[in-house]
Amino acid sequence: MRKQIAAANWKMNCSLQDAEKLLTALSQKQFSLKENEQVVIAVPFPYLLMAKQLLNGKPSFFISAQNCHQKDSGAYTGEVSAAMLASCGITHVIIGHSERRQYFNETSDILAQKTDLALQHGLTPIFCCGEDLAVREHNEQNHFVESQIRDGLFHLNTEAFSRVLIAYEPIWAIGTGKTATAAQAQEMHAHIRKIVGDKYGNEVADHTTILYGGSVKGDNANELFSQPDVDGGLVGGASLKADEFEKIIHSLS
Ligand code: PEP
Repeated sequence: MRKQIAAANWKMNCSLQDAEKLLTALSQKQFSLKENEQVVIAVPFPYLLMAKQLLNGKPSFFISAQNCHQKDSGAYTGEVSAAMLASCGITHVIIGHSERRQYFNETSDILAQKTDLALQHGLTPIFCCGEDLAVREHNEQNHFVESQIRDGLFHLNTEAFSRVLIAYEPIWAIGTGKTATAAQAQEMHAHIRKIVGDKYGNEVADHTTILYGGSVKGDNANELFSQPDVDGGLVGGASLKADEFEKIIHSLS
């Protein structure tokens, strides 16, 4: 059975004190997650260890970084490597979020290197893809997302690919309050699963977790997550409120 995941992406939000409050609130909530259900929380670098400690007693909860560098170590002032994250006991890392592609010029080549290093160090990459509004308006989203996945991931062998989570996040839906309809999400997720199947075979495709991201909220998560190829969500804004994220986690079942 493939994993169903509610993943939070805090981006560059929260003071240390706010982060502690939010994590403590989440740690006090009761969830009865099934064996294949998980919660992943991607916090800013300075809060990773605190988050790990505060959620330590929560089974099926994992802490993620939001990025890592494409080199293993060296003179890259201000950067954080996959090796460092692994040495802190962090299990996941977001790679290729559209904000990083857009504002930090992260190319597919760079993202492929980041993915390789994350996997080498035993981290689970959450590989993001998704088209902007202009691409969608020209109805070129399938081809666009396919290229992002091919260029960022299809150099991996089957074993390595099987450890990757994919997040489809249409840029026009991120932080805009404009969610893709459940049908639009399902259509793209089915397309992604098909191209994964063409490359790695149907069994691998069937086991690949594909998250939807883009204005997921407590009141739309149920409908989105109930689509057959939507395996949970990557959630920005709504993950900064404990009660709202709690609702989203409950929508996994
Ligand atoms: C995101 O940052 O990955 C995201 C989907 O943000 P939001 O939920 O705020 O649209």
